[in-house]
Amino acid sequence: MRIYKVGGAVRDRLLGKPVTDIDWVVVGATTEEMLAKGFRPVGADFPVFLHPKSGEEYALARTERKSGRGYGGFTFHASPEVTLEEDLIRRDLTINAMAEDDQQNLTDPYHGQRDLEARLLRHVSPAFAEDPLRVLRVARFAARYAALGFTVAPETLELMRQLSASGELEALTPERSWKEISRALMEDQPQVFIEVLRACDALKVLMPEVDALFGVPQPPAHHPEIDTGVHTLSVLQQAAMHKQSLTVRWACLLHDLGKGLTPEEEWPQHIAHEFKGLKLIKAVNERFKAPRDCQELALLVGEYHTHGHRALELKPSTLLELLQSFDVYRRPQRFEEFIAACEMDARGRKGLEERSYPQADYLRGAATAARSVAVQPLLEKGFKGPELGEAIKRERLKALKAYKEAASA
Ligand code: ATP
Ligand code: MG
Repeated sequence: MRIYKVGGAVRDRLLGKPVTDIDWVVVGATTEEMLAKGFRPVGADFPVFLHPKSGEEYALARTERKSGRGYGGFTFHASPEVTLEEDLIRRDLTINAMAEDDQQNLTDPYHGQRDLEARLLRHVSPAFAEDPLRVLRVARFAARYAALGFTVAPETLELMRQLSASGELEALTPERSWKEISRALMEDQPQVFIEVLRACDALKVLMPEVDALFGVPQPPAHHPEIDTGVHTLSVLQQAAMHKQSLTVRWACLLHDLGKGLTPEEEWPQHIAHEFKGLKLIKAVNERFKAPRDCQELALLVGEYHTHGHRALELKPSTLLELLQSFDVYRRPQRFEEFIAACEMDARGRKGLEERSYPQADYLRGAATAARSVAVQPLLEKGFKGPELGEAIKRERLKALKAYKEAASA
């Protein structure tokens, strides 16, 4: 049997990037031979094994044929006769379809190295169109390598467009889509992921709520960039520049969905967009089965981001309601993430990227003030049950009044 490094490890070494996980392909071996060498099978009908020591993935060289819709709609053929070239041609991009032996001899039948130099994300063969996940993968690689100057080859973008129009994207499972979306959002230029999806018409299939924001104007006084879609991408870009968590990035992407529902007569105002957007945020959350913390924060940021911006003008009672909605007493981290998302929203505006955001510290201070109310003295005074709850609230309100007065003094 012959063993080669493939995929990302080869690509990233040639790009001079750090290689984290290595994928291997094994040519000329049978399942029995792999098992005899101590490899552990990954799935029942999938010719992939884990190395007994390193735990890295070793896949038998295989060919694939599409036999139906969706991910299950593939038949694999793995046998010792399948060649390295046959295995490489089923891969998505030419830069991902190179292999390397232990002497670093490159096998590159589809000119991945040429495309690396040309900074092009190009499909290997027309079979690209057999797996709609590749639309998301290419957009993700575009986000990852944008800083190096990579773009999607026009003919690949055309194939992605055909895939988007074919209805195949709808067959993706939420789990597979979310894996790509979440990884793409964590790249350095996540806005490129959304731009590429939009350029191939996949965005209006996957997230029509986000797609609808493009072409929707906002008041230039607050939003010099005007367009809501452009603003959303800038917010996402700010979130990446500030190394925000996935949760914050997801909330940034969805925070303004309500603006897509504003009747044109009301443009560029968006009255109550925070509230109107909630059902859209919920729909996107559920479509991709986003993790609970992502879902929760997106909804909270959607509803309250304007409160964040107006923090310094909020009445103590409104401030208290805000803190209660976030359950800031038990979930301090979530409130920090809310503040981060608001700040990214404020900076994701043309020419305002470097502005200061005094609301952030003001909100932190308010949370500290409300949290500093001690329950013990109230218990000692004999408060119980709902009355205790009311007493705590009164004390917190008092603390917030004092805080606001001190801050404006
Ligand atoms: P990363 O750095 O994100 O791990 P990678 O290129 O190694 O990038 P993997 O998902 O680990 O990506 O997949 C390893 C290789 O398997 C890819 O380089 C590609 O050749 C191939 N591959 C993975 N998923 C697909 C797919 N859906 N369609 C075609 N080829 C794929
Ligand atoms: Mg990999």
